Amino acid sequence: MSEPYADAATAARFQAALLAWFAVHQRALPWRETRAPYALWVAETMLQQTTTAAVKPYFAAFMARFPTVQALGKAEIGEVLAVWQGLGYYRRAHLLHKGARHVAAHGGQLPDNETALLKIPGIGAYTAAVLAATAFGQPAVVVDGNVARVMARLARVEAPWPRSAKQIRAVAHSWQVGAPPGPYANAIMELGNQICTPTSPQCLLCPVQAHCAAWQAGVVGDYPRKVAKAKVPDYAASVWWVLDNKGAVFLRQRPATGLLASLWELPHTGWQGAGLPTAWGDLTGRLVGGYTHVFTHFRLKVTVQVAKVSGQHPAGHGFAVCALPPLPNLMKKAATMVAAYNSENKP
Ligand code: SF4
Repeated sequence: MSEPYADAATAARFQAALLAWFAVHQRALPWRETRAPYALWVAETMLQQTTTAAVKPYFAAFMARFPTVQALGKAEIGEVLAVWQGLGYYRRAHLLHKGARHVAAHGGQLPDNETALLKIPGIGAYTAAVLAATAFGQPAVVVDGNVARVMARLARVEAPWPRSAKQIRAVAHSWQVGAPPGPYANAIMELGNQICTPTSPQCLLCPVQAHCAAWQAGVVGDYPRKVAKAKVPDYAASVWWVLDNKGAVFLRQRPATGLLASLWELPHTGWQGAGLPTAWGDLTGRLVGGYTHVFTHFRLKVTVQVAKVSGQHPAGHGFAVCALPPLPNLMKKAATMVAAYNSENKP
C-alpha cells in the first residue's frame, strides 16, 4: 500500500490536479448552479439510487412546484407524490416532506453543520455531509459510492464495503484536508462518476493516477474488494384491471407506511396486501400479459388480468381510465399493458 493516508504536501498536489481536471470536465448540472441549501437537499435526495439524467426533469418540476422549504412543508403528501411519480423509491419523498415540515416548524432554515443537519428527519450521514460541504462550505468528509470506490483504489483498501467504511473515511479525510469543501466534494464524486467508474476505469485519463496505489501495482480490477451478493428472492403476483358497468377502473390506496406508502394501486393477489375485494367472489379474468418488476430486495413476477363486474365500484374506488391518480411504476406497467391490449383487440 502506498500513500493510503496523504501528508499535507501530497494532499495539496492531489487536490490541485483533481480540481484542475474538474474545472474543465465537470458536467453542467442544474443543482450545481446553486448553493441554496433547500435546492441541494432536494437534489441529493432525488439522486439517491437514481441517475442524474433521470433526476434532471424531476428536479426542475419539483422546484417549480415547491420552490421553498415552507412550500413543501405546507403541501399534502399526495401533492408531493404526484410530482415524484415515476422517479421511484417513494420513501424518499415521504422523508423529504417530513423533513421539510420539521424545518418549517423550526425557523425555516436548514442548519449549517452536520450535527444539526442529522437531527432533521430523513437526513442521513451522506446528505448531512454533502449539504455541509456544498451549501455551507464546511470541511465535511463526503463519502458516497463513487468516493468509496475511488478511495478503495487509491489506498488499496482490503476490506469490502461497508466493513471498510471507517478506513475509507480516514483515507478520504487525509486527501481532502485544506481543500475548498464544496468544489472538492463535487470534484471527487465527479471523478468516480466519469473516470474511476465501477467497471473499466479510465486510468490513463485520470488526473490523480500518480497517487493511486492500485494503478501503480497494476491491480485496479481487484478493488474495491467485493462480498458475495445474497440471492434476491422471486415473488409472484396477479394484478387485476377491473372495470365496472360505467367503465370505471377499481383502485385502492396503499397504507400510509411501508412499501409504496400512500400510493394508489390496482388490486392484486399473491404478494402482499388485501387481495381482491371479497364482493367480487370468484371473479374470472382474461390474461393480457406479464412482466417482471425489480425492487431492491426482491423481484416480482407479475401477470395482468382484465375483468368486468356487473355493478358499480364503491365510492372513492372507481376512476375514469383517462383520469387515473399517480400510480407507482409497478402499476403503471400493468395499466400500459392493458391499454396496449385494448388497442390491439378493438372490436
Ligand atoms: Fe481510479 Fe484508475 Fe484513477 Fe486509480 S488511476 S483513481 S483506479 S481511475
